[in-house]
Amino acid sequence: MTLKSINPTDGTLLATFDELSPKEVEHKLERAHSAFKEWRRSSFEDRAAVLRKAADILVSEKEAWARLMTLEMGKPFKQGIGEVEKCALTCRYFADNGSRLLADQLIATESDSKLRYLPLGILFSVMPWNFPFWQVFRCLAPAVMAGNGMVLKHASNVPQCALAIEEIMQRSGVPQGVFTTLLIGSSKVADVIRDPRIAAVTLTGSEGAGASVGAAAGAALKKCVLELGGNDPFIVLPTADIEKAVATGVQARTVNNGQSCVCAKRFIVHRDVYDAFAEKFTAAMDSLVVGDPMDEATQIGPLATEDGAQSIERQVNESIAGGARALTGGAPNSRNGNFYAPTVLADVPSDVPAYREELFGPVAVLMRADNFDHAIELANDTPFGLGSSVWTQDPIEQQRSMNEIEAGLTFFNAMVASDPRLPFGGIKLSGYGRELGELGAREFTNVKTIVTAA
Ligand code: NAP
Repeated sequence: MTLKSINPTDGTLLATFDELSPKEVEHKLERAHSAFKEWRRSSFEDRAAVLRKAADILVSEKEAWARLMTLEMGKPFKQGIGEVEKCALTCRYFADNGSRLLADQLIATESDSKLRYLPLGILFSVMPWNFPFWQVFRCLAPAVMAGNGMVLKHASNVPQCALAIEEIMQRSGVPQGVFTTLLIGSSKVADVIRDPRIAAVTLTGSEGAGASVGAAAGAALKKCVLELGGNDPFIVLPTADIEKAVATGVQARTVNNGQSCVCAKRFIVHRDVYDAFAEKFTAAMDSLVVGDPMDEATQIGPLATEDGAQSIERQVNESIAGGARALTGGAPNSRNGNFYAPTVLADVPSDVPAYREELFGPVAVLMRADNFDHAIELANDTPFGLGSSVWTQDPIEQQRSMNEIEAGLTFFNAMVASDPRLPFGGIKLSGYGRELGELGAREFTNVKTIVTAA
């Protein structure tokens, strides 16, 4: 199999890479295994030094890394710069706080008792293309800080990003083999999971990939974290600041060309403010600048792959055929490449793809809620449970939303966004386990109970 790096803006083939042979994979896993045996004994200071150096390289060369992402998957360049800076911030956060988050925890018993957070082993990380640097660094930084090794299988369409991350880690001074990129296709993932040198697996991706990886990890009895898709609600209630909700809602739907797991996807609006919101939101979506993602003025670039562009076209076409109405957009953009026009769909029946499925592109679904209870009912009428955003000043509505929305994250009067200090993850078909924050720091550790008799 050949891995192809293709520019989604114009379809140019940028580079090709042969998949590693079984012998090459074996060599890299053996090297990772040897490296981990040493790395597990390293001090928090040594690990922090690597992460700080990685942060310096990321920031000082951020234009080059952002350009690479834009070339391989079409992210607007400006957003790529933000992504690289966030990776650096996260490396620094775990460098500065890792020893505290992973410090021994004393427990009062008749003996001397405590918990110690020890490295678990080599973590196999299967990652998506949508945030090619961020997805990797958000699990790499805590893993490195905990003394684990990491083997990365990145998405097949971003091999240059995968190799760039390996280069950054090598230049950061991490011993050879502690971080390794494997250029392999998804058909080889289960073999790597089964390998006895792999201790655990983390996947960020679709439900299909999650089911396969979860099954392979289950069969091998290995710890697994799954960060999967979402169909996040963005609920607007009568006490909301409508102007702010519209501006934030457009950004929340279209960040990364609409290809984020925590993009706001279903806009559930109380009937008292529905018409005002729908009119302003549609106008704002309609005015977005679609174009070359390298251009600073561009707000929406191409979708990352031809398959992705075809999927969104099918989902919208079937939804319109099933009764949904496009208030703007509803078709591919007229440019070459994988462009899709910013779209708003209203009156979406509950049995069409736009209601049921995750839309991974700049397509928003508007829903009218009769009252607060109805809004919560619509929000929960999805197999997913990742993020949620609720726009209300009412403390009772806020409390009820915290308790009743089935999601891993609820943000009030703000869009959902990850932050290295806050645990991140979902429930239902959005997966299980947490990344980032204290829970993320400890997710891939051996939490050893230690008792010394008095
Ligand atoms: P994907 O097709 O599931 O791919 C993700 C990774 O899994 C890639 O490395 C892919 O390799 C691999 N993979 C695919 N099928 C596999 C299988 N059957 N067995 C083992 N590995 C497999 O997802 P994507 O299209 O790249 O990413 C979009 C999805 O990721 C969306 O659903 C999005 O919501 C979700 N996502 C979730 C989060 C979160 O934090 N919850 C964050 C970002 C994205 P190949 O490229 O070689 O196929």
